[in-house]
Amino acid sequence: MHSHQCLAAPVVGLTLFAILPWPFALPAYLIVSVLALVCWRKGLEAMRLPIVMGSEALPGQVGYVYLPGQAHIGGETWLIESETPLDAGARVRVVAVQGLRLKVEPASPLSASSSAEPTLLCPACGRPISDRWTHCPYCGEDLL
Ligand SMILES: [Zn+2]
Repeated sequence: MHSHQCLAAPVVGLTLFAILPWPFALPAYLIVSVLALVCWRKGLEAMRLPIVMGSEALPGQVGYVYLPGQAHIGGETWLIESETPLDAGARVRVVAVQGLRLKVEPASPLSASSSAEPTLLCPACGRPISDRWTHCPYCGEDLL
């Protein structure tokens, strides 16, 4: 809805030509058009944000630290916060959702909990992966 209002701006801007002489109306119209485009793109981004997967399902999920402050969880990259420092590749469990950030805690390593799990290897980088993952946490390879 918001983005549609933005797109109306260049049309409304045409009235500038009726009010102002050409040398003034043209640059003014260009400025209005650029602002409308920026506004429209922001509107699109704002519409996309709430779709970032059902956050109610996140607590309890396990993912892997991808970069400092970021983790792959449920096939998405999330900004994370943790009380303990986490290295890239560390296994983490989601404790709570805080807006667009996830509060995480270190999760027990694979070997301790489920040694019976068959070892799958990433076709791209050859590191051990889980069949529940949609992306390799080490190299980002699509696993679906
Ligand atoms: Zn990989």
